[in-house]
Amino acid sequence: MNLSKSKYTRGFQCHKMLWLDINKPEVAKVIDNEAVFETGHEVGELAKGLFGKYTDIEFNKDLNQMIKDTDAAIKRGDKIITEASFVYENNFCSVDILVNNNNELEVYEVKSSTDLHDIYKEDISYQVYILLSLGYKVKKASIVYLNKNYVFHDKLDIKKLFVIDDITKYVLNNQDSIKENIEEIIKDCSKDEPDINIGYQCNNPYECPYFDYCTKDLIRPNIFDIRILPFKSKIKNYNNSIISYEDILKSDLNEKYIEQAKYEIKDLKPKIEKDLIKDFLTTITYPIYFLDFETYQEAIPKYEGTKPFEQIPFQYSLHILYEDGKLVHKEFLAEPDIDPRLSLAKTLVEDIPKDVCSVAYNMSFERNIIKKLAEVYPDLREHLLNIRENMKDLMIPFYKRWYYMKEMEGSYSIKYVLPALFPNDPSLNYKNLPLVHKGDEASNTYKDLGNHTKKEQETIRHGLLVYCELDTFAMVKIYEKLIEIIK
Ligand code: SF4
Repeated sequence: MNLSKSKYTRGFQCHKMLWLDINKPEVAKVIDNEAVFETGHEVGELAKGLFGKYTDIEFNKDLNQMIKDTDAAIKRGDKIITEASFVYENNFCSVDILVNNNNELEVYEVKSSTDLHDIYKEDISYQVYILLSLGYKVKKASIVYLNKNYVFHDKLDIKKLFVIDDITKYVLNNQDSIKENIEEIIKDCSKDEPDINIGYQCNNPYECPYFDYCTKDLIRPNIFDIRILPFKSKIKNYNNSIISYEDILKSDLNEKYIEQAKYEIKDLKPKIEKDLIKDFLTTITYPIYFLDFETYQEAIPKYEGTKPFEQIPFQYSLHILYEDGKLVHKEFLAEPDIDPRLSLAKTLVEDIPKDVCSVAYNMSFERNIIKKLAEVYPDLREHLLNIRENMKDLMIPFYKRWYYMKEMEGSYSIKYVLPALFPNDPSLNYKNLPLVHKGDEASNTYKDLGNHTKKEQETIRHGLLVYCELDTFAMVKIYEKLIEIIK
């Protein structure tokens, strides 16, 4: 059996995960990682230039060719080699950046993350294991990742964008366990399906796509259906045989978790705390400005004052509800491939006057976006902060469980609350939208917008607009529902 960096780290997380990758990939849940791969590629390409001119080993399906090209580059004395490829006893790796100082090697593993996770240390230790086994001297092993405090000004400074953490000592001390891990992974993955129970490894460091498969024989519903319970607590309870909803009702879990099981198992009627909801609604005054932003993130910042992975707002929808029931809709969607923030901020202050009540669902997100805009555009600061200060959160009655139905399945997210409140209304069903159905789809669609023809862009823009419009229209309907139930 052959291993690579990615296979080793999959197997390191769970032998069964790698076994399933090889033998039953069809039972995996589909996780759309395309955007993550693209970001990783973009960051990896940029980091190649960190130490100056380099020799790039071109990708070849024939890995032997990559290994030969690497060997030739090392023999030539090329100082910096990217994607340098090696094999030792069926263990293959491509080193992101290899610095060759007279046959003493420095290994750099590039990650498109702003944190150094433990799994990265395993990844680079595996590469160093191959190099040491081949007889190379490894002087340094470092992880290169994004500096979360880097702020873009005028021109990208890649020396400041990346953090380089030297973990040579750790990597060298880790070598014995790498050898053992490789042996165990190969042994387990060369036989029948490993008998491994679910545990903390199923979500750490990465969400495992085989979780549904591995829990297919568990009683339904079960502890893993308690939505807001953290995964670690789910596993802890599972290990203590608290699995079924009956077990949960008898457990000492916090009431907010038990409530979901209680409502579903006993088929309870909705809980409606009318007085609390009424008090909450008195804080919202007409005309009401229901606001929702869509944002995207760039690993490599390119706009003034932004950091890696900062949320960049590119779109909003605004429904204005007047006391007499009149409803007006306004919206903004930026052109592609430009800094959308200034035109968005200007339009927003034109659309929302000062001292009016605005409403968002989970408003910390909207408030944070507005705060950032106020920092970047001092001329709009006062008005933006005024909107922010006058914002109310429509999520409160559901978050506090003043209004709870079993159909909300323990969640207060609008994606659960809305269908629970309006089960048979196709106009409020995100599945009926033409192109974009959730936030990450909106982000990826906008990021890609500039790669389409003008004609295609029209259709895509329509998809984005109707998606965001539904977010604020849903808020209007939820607000009206709350008004109705307190009567
Ligand atoms: S769900 Fe858990 S036990 Fe099953 S393969 Fe994944 S990590 Fe392993």
